[in-house]
Amino acid sequence: MNKINPNGSATDRKELLQAAVGERWDFIIVGGGASGLGTALEAATRGYRVLLLERFDFAKGTSSRSTKLVHGGVRYLAQGNIKLVREASIERGYLHRNARHLVKNQVFLVPMYNWWDRMKYTHGLKLYDWIAGRLSLGASTFIGRKRTAGLMPGVKTTGLKGAVWYHDGQFDDARLAINLAQTVLEQGGITLNYFNVTGITKNEAGSAVFAVDAETGTGYSFQGRVVINAGGVFVDEVRRLADATHPVTITVSQGIHLVVDRSFYSSAQAMMIPETSDGRVLFAVPWHGKVVLGTTDTALKEHRIEPSALDSEISFILDNAKLYLDKAPTRADVLSVFAGLRPLAAPSGTKEKTKEISRSHKIISDGRGMFTMLGGKWTTYRRMAEDMVDRVEKEAGWTITKSVTRDLPIHGDAVPEDGLLYFYGADLGPLMNRIRDSGKSWISEPYGIHEETIRWAVEKELARTLEDVLARRNRILFLDARAAKAIAPEVAAVMASLLGHDAGWEGAQVSGFETLCDSWLP
Ligand SMILES: Cc1cc2nc3c(=O)[nH]c(=O)nc-3n(C[C@H](O)[C@H](O)[C@H](O)COP(=O)(O)OP(=O)(O)OC[C@H]3O[C@@H](n4cnc5c(N)ncnc54)[C@H](O)[C@@H]3O)c2cc1C
Repeated sequence: MNKINPNGSATDRKELLQAAVGERWDFIIVGGGASGLGTALEAATRGYRVLLLERFDFAKGTSSRSTKLVHGGVRYLAQGNIKLVREASIERGYLHRNARHLVKNQVFLVPMYNWWDRMKYTHGLKLYDWIAGRLSLGASTFIGRKRTAGLMPGVKTTGLKGAVWYHDGQFDDARLAINLAQTVLEQGGITLNYFNVTGITKNEAGSAVFAVDAETGTGYSFQGRVVINAGGVFVDEVRRLADATHPVTITVSQGIHLVVDRSFYSSAQAMMIPETSDGRVLFAVPWHGKVVLGTTDTALKEHRIEPSALDSEISFILDNAKLYLDKAPTRADVLSVFAGLRPLAAPSGTKEKTKEISRSHKIISDGRGMFTMLGGKWTTYRRMAEDMVDRVEKEAGWTITKSVTRDLPIHGDAVPEDGLLYFYGADLGPLMNRIRDSGKSWISEPYGIHEETIRWAVEKELARTLEDVLARRNRILFLDARAAKAIAPEVAAVMASLLGHDAGWEGAQVSGFETLCDSWLP
C-alpha cells in the first residue's frame, strides 16, 4: 500500500503538495511530457518514491504536438534503422494493449502512381509487418485502382495505379499524458504541474531540487536520491541548473501540423505520402472528426515552449497536399496550426540534416546523480523509461528490480467505445452519468464540452487553467482554434467558480487564451 497517496485518489493540488513536502524521494523527475511521465510510472511501479515536477501543464511541450501515430516508423525503415523499427513496433503492441481507449489500429493507404513505387512499397511494408512479428496490427497488401479510389475519396485519381494498405497505431497524445499522470498517482507517485524547477544542488544524500509553485510564487526544496532530467528541448537548460558550464548538446527541429475539415479528405483510412518535395513522408490522419496534415522538419536555432509555425512550413504542407488531393485546402480552410519541437540527440561534430538524425533515445549520466533522457519517440516512451530506471539502478548500485509496465493498464483502459467522447475510456460511464444528472445543456456539443467535462478535468485530471482544459483535456484548440476562442469565456467562468478564482483571474485567462488561439491560425 502506498503511503504517500493512499488509494491513489488524491488529485487535489494542495493535498498533493502537502504530501510532497518533507518527503525524501528516490526519483525527482523534471518534466511532465512523455519521457518524464513514463519514467515516473516505471519507477513508481517498481516501488520507488517518485515526485514529478512540470513547469507548465503535463504535455504542454512536444508531447501534445505529435502526428498522433503510435508507429514502428516507415521512414526509419527506409533509413535502414531496423533496430528502432523493431523496438517501436513492439512498444506499439504493448500500448495498443494497455491503453485500448486511446490507441487505435489505423489503416494507412499509400497511393501509388507508378509501378516501380508499387513494387518498392509493397515489399517494404511487408518487411514492416514482418519486423513487428506477432505484435503486428494487421497484414499489408496492395489494392487496385478502383478500390483505392473508393476508399480514398478526394484523392487524385489521374494516373492512380492503386495503393499499398498497411496498419499502424493512432492515438491522442495529450490524453495519454494525462492518463499516465493519473496512473502515476494511482501507483503512489506525486505529479505536480505548474512547478518550475529553478535550481539543483548536489549533497551527500543526493540532490536538493528547488522549484517554484507558479500559482503562488512560493519556493520549495525537495530532496531526492537521483534527479531525472526529462526536459525535452530544455534538457540543456535543466542540466545547467546543476552545472553552469554545461554546453549545448541537443539539436532542435520543428514540425508543424495543419488541421482541416474532413470534407478535404473524408476517408476513414489515413493517407501516407511517401516522398514529399524535401524527401520526407507526409501524413493525412483522421483525428477526432478532422484531418491532421503533417509534418515538417525545420532546424531551429532557438526554442521556446510555445513555438510558431513558419509561413514556409504552412506553404510546404499545403503545396504537397495539393499534389494528392482533388479539392486541396487553402490557408483560409485551416482550422488550427500546431508546432512541436523535436529534442534530437545530435551526434556532435557532424553536419547531418535533422531529418537524418536518429530518433533513438540516449541516456546520459553526469556521474553525480542526474540522468538525462535525450531524443526518443512517444511510441517508445515505456521502453525509454524502462531503460532509464535500469540504468539508474545499475549506476547507483541499487537492488535490481524488474519492469512490470509491459502489462500495466493505463488509467482509462477499456474496450474502446464509438462516439465523440471515446477517449475517456473507463471514465466515460461515470462522466456521462454526471452529464445526465446535471440536466444542463452542452457548452459545445460537437466538441464534447459540458460543465461536467470541465468539472471532471479540474477534479480528476489535474487541470488548472483554461488552456489545460481546452488544449489537453479536450483537444478543441488543436481541432478548431476559432471554435475554442468562441467558448473560452463560458469555460473560464465555470473554471473560476470551481477553483475559487475571482473575475481578475477569469479575465486574464480569457485574454491570454484568445491571444493563443489567434497565434494558432495561419
Ligand atoms: C512534429 C512532431 C511530430 C511527432 N510525431 C510523433 C508521432 O507521431 N509518434 C511518436 O511516437 N512520436 C512523435 N514525435 C516525438 C514525440 O512527440 C517526442 O519524442 C516526445 O513527445 C518528447 O517528449 P519529452 O517528454 O521528451 O518532451 P516534452 O513533451 O517537450 O516534455 C518536456 C517537459 O519538460 C518541461 N520542463 C522543461 N524545463 C523544466 C523545468 N525547469 N522545470 C519543470 N519542467 C520543465 C517542459 O515544460 C515540458 O513539458 C513527434 C515530435 C514532433 C516534434
